[in-house]
Amino acid sequence: MTTYSHSRINTYENCPYAYKLRYIDRQKPEIPTTIEAFMGDMVHQALEDLYKKRKFKKRTAKATLIKVYRDLWEKNYSEDILIVKKDEGLNEDNYRKMGEKFLSDYYERMKPFNQMTILGLETQDRMTLPDGNQWHVRIDKLGCDNQGNYFVCDYKTNARMKDQEEADSDRQLAMYSIWVKDKFKDAKSVKLIWHMLAFNKDAISERTEEQLQKLQQEIVERIKEIESATEFPRKQTALCNYCGFKSECPSFKHEFELNKKETIEKFKEDEGVKLVDEFSEVKTKLAEYKKSQEEFREKLISYAKQFEIDIVYGSNKKCSVREFDKIILPEDQKLKEEFIQLIKDKGIYEECSMVCYPRLNSKILKDEIEDEIKEEIREKVSIEKDFRLSLSKRKDVLEDDE
Ligand code: SF4
Repeated sequence: MTTYSHSRINTYENCPYAYKLRYIDRQKPEIPTTIEAFMGDMVHQALEDLYKKRKFKKRTAKATLIKVYRDLWEKNYSEDILIVKKDEGLNEDNYRKMGEKFLSDYYERMKPFNQMTILGLETQDRMTLPDGNQWHVRIDKLGCDNQGNYFVCDYKTNARMKDQEEADSDRQLAMYSIWVKDKFKDAKSVKLIWHMLAFNKDAISERTEEQLQKLQQEIVERIKEIESATEFPRKQTALCNYCGFKSECPSFKHEFELNKKETIEKFKEDEGVKLVDEFSEVKTKLAEYKKSQEEFREKLISYAKQFEIDIVYGSNKKCSVREFDKIILPEDQKLKEEFIQLIKDKGIYEECSMVCYPRLNSKILKDEIEDEIKEEIREKVSIEKDFRLSLSKRKDVLEDDE
């Protein structure tokens, strides 16, 4: 049986390919962590220290809390931590100061830190899911009051405030409340609290027994999907900027290698760079020729009209310019449907319609039709591999590129 966690399932949902690399192939990410995660970790550790001391009736001054945080930062920071927003002018110092501000605001709001009796800090455990798999429990701060209310608290350093809808649908803390209810039989309520440190506010949620059962079932279903997956497609999103597997990912491997080139000259000597640059040039020329072709078409039509001729002669070729009638289908959807119905009723539709291959492709190859029909169609056709090439602009274009 496997131990799953919120972050493991999240990795699969964000990018099945990254999941495969991390959890199936057991590859180590090429970067130790991102600056955001590092800052969050240092903030967590500083707050853990504060509450631990409080347990022993030892008060922590705000300056001490900040010093603990700074010392932790200094001790653990390493140059290979990824700063994605470096291009936006952010550096290590900005993030360190941001964390100090979060701690300072939290300290002022929560002092003297007696909102609850602390039962555990960075509590770790496992619970068994209905399918026999294990679920990893890790609670930043677990507390209770003397009325049987339990509090599962999470420190968040996100730059976006969690709204109520998000808090009420969050999976991570809700799963922990199942664990709390199982461990503490006197629990009358379990409140889920996110300390949103960037906003110095809390987001709070509570789940009914029914919601928790439903959530557990959904997780079991998701695990079933993961365990039966045979394909792990890549999902390119903004999260790729924070992914630690870029050197292994076919979508970023080449860029990763290019980033190692010491000079622009070496970069430009790369075979792939040359191919893309030339391909892009050809595509641009083709688009220009196409535009030019349209312009010549218009000019030849007006020339033929002006001199009342229907063949224009060149040195080696001649160009016939013949006018003809063509039917224009109605643009209005309703009128278009009426038209199609009419030609169907008159028995000429079959003869005049064509199979739309792109549509057929996606219907058969993506899950857009019932399996039975899909199988029947697949038996009548053959499926080959092909490539689609699309050019798009790199965000980080070299300065002398244009
Ligand atoms: S870089 Fe993006 S697409 Fe590639 S593995 Fe990471 S998350 Fe997936």
